[in-house]
Amino acid sequence: MTRNVLQIRDGHGRRASYMRISVTDRCNLRCRYCMPREAEFIPHDKILSYEEIEQLIALSSDLGITKVRLTGGEPFVRRGFTDFLKRVHGNNPGLDLRVTTNGTLLRPLLDEVAAAGVQVLNISLDTLYPGRFQALTGLDAHAEVVGAIDGALAHGLRVKVNVVGLRGVNDDELGSFIRFASERPVDVRFIEFMPMGGCVAWSPEKLWPAEDIIEEAGHHADLEAVARSEGDQGPVRLFRLAGGLGRIGVISPMSNHFCGSCNRLRITSTGKLRTCLYSDREYRLRPILAHPRLSIEAVKQVILRAGRHKPLGYDILNHRLGGAVCSTHMSAIGG
Ligand code: SF4
Repeated sequence: MTRNVLQIRDGHGRRASYMRISVTDRCNLRCRYCMPREAEFIPHDKILSYEEIEQLIALSSDLGITKVRLTGGEPFVRRGFTDFLKRVHGNNPGLDLRVTTNGTLLRPLLDEVAAAGVQVLNISLDTLYPGRFQALTGLDAHAEVVGAIDGALAHGLRVKVNVVGLRGVNDDELGSFIRFASERPVDVRFIEFMPMGGCVAWSPEKLWPAEDIIEEAGHHADLEAVARSEGDQGPVRLFRLAGGLGRIGVISPMSNHFCGSCNRLRITSTGKLRTCLYSDREYRLRPILAHPRLSIEAVKQVILRAGRHKPLGYDILNHRLGGAVCSTHMSAIGG
């Protein structure tokens, strides 16, 4: 019997098929562009339980969500995360399950992560210099992250390395990152720095536009554009490196947005649905989920209705009066 799958469609002709779910706002790093050093975390009782997240994943697949990315803060700081991964995979074997992590805690857990059916890991690494890593994140854990990347590759996992491009901070490392990608079958993706919630570190001078990155990369290596038809690219523009194992890419939410083809929704660690990264409009799902007389159908109806009003984020970015595009920290949204 065919399963009746509803679809989340908005007024711009887009269909949501990808859900990013934050399992915690906590993190063991303090990246300047993401989280203030004196971060205040959400109390545990306000955070979704694993059971609630599993319910949301299950009902999302009834709404045409085929890909789920689990994020944080840092998801591996939450106790029981790998067991949770196994349950999600076990209960949703057809789901494209992915994780975004800072990699500092990952290496000893790779056997479990691989066994949990995670296909792709996005690992954040903004510098290849251990000292700069500590200065940017507040933790001396560079070797753990590089070790986790190589360990994940050795486990046969696909690895995408996320680099937030920061003019005047890590733009002198483009050649090193190209070498890093040449020596490994990874995608190193440079993400333009976004002025997210209260991020004091953001300034226009720090924006390293994608076109500049591509132009500068051409001085370090022969680049061959990867055709979009090769699939699984999402908003990234990828380039093969001549004679290299890996690829480099750029994600340009500031200079060349991709809102027109956006297929993603987000659920924060407190169970609030955000239809756009830049929009502070949130829909509280947890009270409905927990309500004794309201069914799962009620949650689905809220998601469908919210999805219909999904904005074009770029408009929000354009109309902001200088400063941040939204009031919530990236770590509390889940990226
Ligand atoms: S800004 Fe909003 S609409 Fe644009 S790509 Fe991001 S989430 Fe999608």
